[in-house]
Amino acid sequence: MVPNYNWREALPYIEEPIIKLVQHHMAHPTWTVYDVHNYHRSKYVIREDGTKDYWAGIGYNYWIGFDGTIYEGRGRKRGAHAGAEWNGRSLGIGYQGHFNQQEMTDAQLRSGAWLNAILIVEDNLSVDDIIGHGDILSTSCPGKNFRMQELREETQKLLPAGF
Ligand SMILES: [Zn+2]
Repeated sequence: MVPNYNWREALPYIEEPIIKLVQHHMAHPTWTVYDVHNYHRSKYVIREDGTKDYWAGIGYNYWIGFDGTIYEGRGRKRGAHAGAEWNGRSLGIGYQGHFNQQEMTDAQLRSGAWLNAILIVEDNLSVDDIIGHGDILSTSCPGKNFRMQELREETQKLLPAGF
């Protein structure tokens, strides 16, 4: 579903080819997609002139709740989830929960596989391009209980021949 976000500004499309699908947890046990959006909307960097440059809103391209509901975040617009080096050539998928403390649900695994499979076909990738945030930056995200191996296996089952 597509929540009615109140973006601070228009978001640019991603112009480079997508080369990785970056999986994230929220490092928070209960936050909803709206909580994450409001939190990200409050974040900012300080410009050279000292003024605040606020994030437009939720930084993930897609987001998956405990019940498996898939939400569009920034969609095909440039995300804010993996740093300047990666935001322009990856898509970020956020999962509700804190996977150093909680288990990833079966519904999240199923929806994650379905979403990653679609993105792999759209962007001509492979299951090896499904990675965790910690694979490209120094972070424990998406958490030790993130079911990465199962996610890749379930995604592969959904892909057409040749992927
Ligand atoms: Zn992350």
